[in-house]
Amino acid sequence: MYAIDLTGKHALVMGVANHRSLSWGIAQILHQAGARLCVTYAGERLKGMVEELAGGLPGVTLLECDVTRDETIDAVARRLTNDWGSLEMLVHGIAFARKEDLEGAFVATPREGFQSALDVSAFSLLNVTNRVLPLLEKGGGSIVTLSYLAAERAVPAYNVMGSAKAVLEQSVRQLAYELGPRNIRVNAISAGPVSTLAARGIRGFTDMLKKHAEKAPLKRNVTKEEVGKAALFLLSDLGSGVTGEVLYVDAGYSIMGW
Ligand code: NAD
Repeated sequence: MYAIDLTGKHALVMGVANHRSLSWGIAQILHQAGARLCVTYAGERLKGMVEELAGGLPGVTLLECDVTRDETIDAVARRLTNDWGSLEMLVHGIAFARKEDLEGAFVATPREGFQSALDVSAFSLLNVTNRVLPLLEKGGGSIVTLSYLAAERAVPAYNVMGSAKAVLEQSVRQLAYELGPRNIRVNAISAGPVSTLAARGIRGFTDMLKKHAEKAPLKRNVTKEEVGKAALFLLSDLGSGVTGEVLYVDAGYSIMGW
């Protein structure tokens, strides 16, 4: 249990696929801190797995939400308006790129692949935010999304996902600027590599984990629990003065020159 008390606060956590998901690490810590949670999953295929996980966190609302289908986002917004009336925390842990677009040459990424990766992984941040905005305004909300160093560096095999993360991080700054006067904060966590379903779609990921651990000042990789703790800081009153930032939770890897 962490000292911060989120009793009476509401959190929408998007992007749980299984127990390895970074969003799940965040959900667990928010739950320990006393927040009421709504966890969303992308589609019917993931329902059983996420239901099983959520069984361990009493009182969690589970809803389906596919960010390529606006009606499913609106259904979540309606449900939260009805049940909660305000939203203090929004966690966006969603990313997708087609397998073939992570395997081939970046230069040959087709239009559909580029659009799809940017739609799901970056546009969804503003689209979801916009659709729950009245709730966030009432809650004095804080938003956290998950990024990666490929937003600003060339990383082998990240291809179009690096482009999506660059757009995501700029969207964080633009949203933070625009929503600040409405008392809504927007930040990103740039996490080091963690073995999850999405990460395993990157060619050579296991080797990358090893190299990150060797080069990072802390000489190890980070865990989803550490990402969760950083998210707790940004989402709670502890981070009340922070907006538009990208916080690196990467065992220090990003500071290294070589
Ligand atoms: P994950 O596979 O557990 O999570 C990705 C989530 O995105 C899944 O729950 C998936 O269902 C969801 N998603 C995909 N398409 C969707 C859609 N159309 N609608 C709604 N949800 C959809 O993997 P993860 O590593 O926990 O990824 C979470 C976030 O963290 C991603 O943004 C990822 O890029 C980022 N990230 C991961 C790492 C890492 O090494 N694991 C590092 C830095 C950043």
